[in-house]
Amino acid sequence: MPVDFELTKEQEDVKATVREFAEKYIAPRAIEFEEKQMIPPEITREMGRLGLFGVTYPEEYGGLGLDPVTAGLILEEIVRADLTFSLAVAYLVPASWGYVACKYGSEEFRDDIIRKAAGGDLWIGIATTEPGAGSDLAGISTTARRDGDSYVVSGEKAYISGVREAREKGVWFELGGGHVTLAYTDKSKLHRGMSLFFVPLTDPGISVRLEKEFGRKGWSYGSFVLDNVKVPGKYRIGEEGRGFYIAMEGFDHARAYIALACAVGGKRAIELAAEYAKQRRAFGEPIATFQGVQFQLADNWARLEAAHSLAYRALWALKMEQEGRLGRYEVTKIAASAKLFAVQTAKAAIDDALRWFGAYGYTEENPVALAMKAVKSYDWAEGSLDIMRLIVAREVLGREYIARRR
Ligand SMILES: Cc1cc2nc3c(=O)[nH]c(=O)nc-3n(C[C@H](O)[C@H](O)[C@H](O)COP(=O)(O)OP(=O)(O)OC[C@H]3O[C@@H](n4cnc5c(N)ncnc54)[C@H](O)[C@@H]3O)c2cc1C
Repeated sequence: MPVDFELTKEQEDVKATVREFAEKYIAPRAIEFEEKQMIPPEITREMGRLGLFGVTYPEEYGGLGLDPVTAGLILEEIVRADLTFSLAVAYLVPASWGYVACKYGSEEFRDDIIRKAAGGDLWIGIATTEPGAGSDLAGISTTARRDGDSYVVSGEKAYISGVREAREKGVWFELGGGHVTLAYTDKSKLHRGMSLFFVPLTDPGISVRLEKEFGRKGWSYGSFVLDNVKVPGKYRIGEEGRGFYIAMEGFDHARAYIALACAVGGKRAIELAAEYAKQRRAFGEPIATFQGVQFQLADNWARLEAAHSLAYRALWALKMEQEGRLGRYEVTKIAASAKLFAVQTAKAAIDDALRWFGAYGYTEENPVALAMKAVKSYDWAEGSLDIMRLIVAREVLGREYIARRR
């Protein structure tokens, strides 16, 4: 297999443009995202203007038409500038779920919603989780009943990212946004009875409640209740009964990006802590001189390099799948492996890096402390680490070893 880590000229250019933007607009204000518990709207507006909320959407619908590897290069720059990970979430969710919604959505949906999202006027999120079901998607209660050309959707979604930004029109996005939402169209068929719909959160029939997040506070997280909300049939994503399987594809994308974000965030944390360790003196020496610190640095860095490479392998696998050169299950296995490894690796690295700061590590002004809280969210978001383990084991052992439902 040929291996080539070299970037193309186009990739270099994209990376340089986003780095310049991130250093100028994002990095100086990232701590503020956490303090004020919001991303300043001028940042999302500028990102929208640059097309960063539609990087993976086809050019014919106004997107940048970038492949997952190139979209990952952009994510790197965003994470390096914002260790709260708030912007990483704002970026990677539409890059994953908007892409999948566009792939399976109707022509009218693409023309209407994808075009607006690609132009930065609307944000696309994902809503599978409910108060009573997260890992076990067959346990959801939300239903969608056909009513002429529309569906009537009822239920509750919980712990959903971006509910405030999608709900409030004219602030972060001119038109607010909506979530790719999983519902049963035929509960008797379990996984084969689920369908996906794009549900605009601006609908008056929806009520939103925000949670107080533990970290990455710049991008909201909360629940929404759908009380007989009418959703046009053209907003169904894919065929009826295919929702679960399409959602699994969306998770693969999100997991690969999350793996990359964690690897890059972990490396940035080590870099920041290493700078501090060169300045901070104890017992007459910079603490960077102590081998206890150096050995931690080296072990973590080596593991982060591995996580970084594996994340790109997952993004590359998605690209190969798009080109019809790799199968679905192989992609799922690599993406789950990448997330499983990167989240654990980043958490351990950030924990060590934070210790080098001493007591200054235990303040909210320290970006590495904010990174630690943010990376913790990936124990669960877009599939828990235990579910990643189950997926990898299933793909390696074979499907006959899946534990049966009781
Ligand atoms: C910051 C954040 C943002 C999120 N954003 C979104 C979003 O935008 N959209 C959305 O739909 N969801 C979102 N989620 C929810 C996330 O997808 C769920 O938390 C996740 O799927 C796990 O579901 P759960 O929280 O209900 O945990 P549960 O499914 O109740 O699991 C609880 C624990 O049991 C373990 N477990 C469950 N089943 C098994 C098993 N078979 N074997 C071994 N262990 C098992 C899990 O690993 C976990 O540790 C977000 C979560 C967080 C923390």
